[in-house]
Amino acid sequence: MFKLAIVGRPNVGKSTLFNRLVGKRLALVDDQPGVTRDLREAEARLGDLHFMVIDTAGLEEADAESLPGRMRALTERAVDMADASLFLVDARAGLLPQDATFAEILRRKGARVLLGVNKAEGRQGADAAMEAWSLGFGQPIPLSAEHGEGMGDLYTALQEAM
Ligand code: GDP
Ligand code: MG
Repeated sequence: MFKLAIVGRPNVGKSTLFNRLVGKRLALVDDQPGVTRDLREAEARLGDLHFMVIDTAGLEEADAESLPGRMRALTERAVDMADASLFLVDARAGLLPQDATFAEILRRKGARVLLGVNKAEGRQGADAAMEAWSLGFGQPIPLSAEHGEGMGDLYTALQEAM
C-alpha cells in the first residue's frame, strides 16, 4: 500500500492531520511541542484513496535554535519508509529556519514531496502559501488540519503522487 510520511518541525499540526486522515485518535495531539516521540503508522483514507500514513514526532531539547538529532533521525526514517512525504509548514508562524532544515533533509534524500501549509485559515493562509513557494517543492497546498479545509486539494495532489 502507498505510504505517506507527514514531516516537518514540531507544532505545525502533523498529528492533527494524521488523526484526521486516520479517523481515530492514535496520535497524541498537544499544545506543547514534543509530546509524542515516535513514528506512528496507520491506515488512512481520503475520499476513495486508501494509504498508510506515518506521523513523525519528537523534540527532546528546549533549545529552539538547533534541530534535535532525534527529530532528524525520525524524519529520515519516515522518509525512507514512505513513497512520498507531506512536508507541513505553519501559516501562522510563517517560514522559520527550522523549516529550511527539513527542506534540506527532504531534498538530500531525493524524497517525493507534497508541500502543505497548515493552519491556513483565512487570509493569513493565502499569504503563507505564497511565501511557501520559496521552499522549492512546487505548489503549496493550503490546509487546515483542525478544521478540515484544503482536503480536496490534498486529495488531488495525493492522487497524482500515487
Ligand atoms: P505536531 O507537533 O506537528 O504533531 O502538531 P500538533 O498536531 O500536535 O498540533 C500543534 C498545535 O497546533 C495544536 O495546538 C493543534 O491544535 C494546532 N493545530 C493543528 N492544526 C491546526 C490548524 O489547522 N489550524 C490551527 N489554527 N491550529 C492547528
Ligand atoms: Mg505530533
